[in-house]
Amino acid sequence: MRVWSLPMRTRFRGITVREGVLLRGEAGWGEWSPFLEYDAAVAEPWLRCAEEAAAGDWPAPVRDRVPVNVTVPAVGPDQAHAIVLAGGCRTAKVKVAEPGQTLADDQARVEAVRDALGPDGRVRIDVNGLWDLDTASASIPVLDRAAGGLEYVEQPCASVEDLAAVRRRVGVPIAADESIRRAADPYRVRDLEAADVAVLKVQPLGGVRACLRIAEDIGLPVVVSSALETSVGIAAGVALAAALPELPYACGLATVQLLAAEVVTDPLLPVDGELPVRVPVVDESLLHAEPDRVAHWEARLAEVRALREDRRS
Ligand SMILES: [Mg+2]
Repeated sequence: MRVWSLPMRTRFRGITVREGVLLRGEAGWGEWSPFLEYDAAVAEPWLRCAEEAAAGDWPAPVRDRVPVNVTVPAVGPDQAHAIVLAGGCRTAKVKVAEPGQTLADDQARVEAVRDALGPDGRVRIDVNGLWDLDTASASIPVLDRAAGGLEYVEQPCASVEDLAAVRRRVGVPIAADESIRRAADPYRVRDLEAADVAVLKVQPLGGVRACLRIAEDIGLPVVVSSALETSVGIAAGVALAAALPELPYACGLATVQLLAAEVVTDPLLPVDGELPVRVPVVDESLLHAEPDRVAHWEARLAEVRALREDRRS
């Protein structure tokens, strides 16, 4: 096991440094990078994902490229336009509902994104659960018009119940993201008919094969998204996206640019809006962290393994 610690280009999810572990197995490296606040029970499926990768136990791909979206943060319209043009993707995910901003700000950003993409591109918005039911019901039609048609709205409200209610009130498809964090969650989204699209992340849900089973069980189209991984972790998401029988939407896997450094020689960066289906090459000289961080991750790994022992006995 090797610990790494990488600066973020900009603060994201409240963090400025991303850290984790690469585990080496028979077939190569797997990434284990649960966020620091997660306890052993939450971090355990993340470890299964790393072990699956290290063992080389991924299903066969049915495609060799995976379309990805460019992500547009809550910036002004000119900057949003520039980000979409620079991204080279045919799908843009636009962050909206930023605290301190107005619906008019979101409208201007979404209009600029449509302008940059042209009529054939796809525009989705991500609310990160920040609207209440009434705000969602009122805002979605406005932004749908501003976008000239939204592909879908990601997590308009925080609770699964509210997602289901919004879905019944608006004519735009709804995607569940934050509502799906543990293995049981997608089934609840399905049972409440809360979403048209499921956003799945391989680490929190226990790996590529576990996600494939979930996708099959829930019968919803899947968008594979990242958990802010290095290219090693992203490769696991790409392996899932490559193995899904259907992939009707671009994935949220173009995120290694958020890191200011890498652990591989050949980062998984999009080319013409797509990621290649391949395993990047780890550069071991890039795997380092301060001794106290190494100790932290060793203790964490021991804790997760102890939890597994407890469960077995
Ligand atoms: Mg999201």
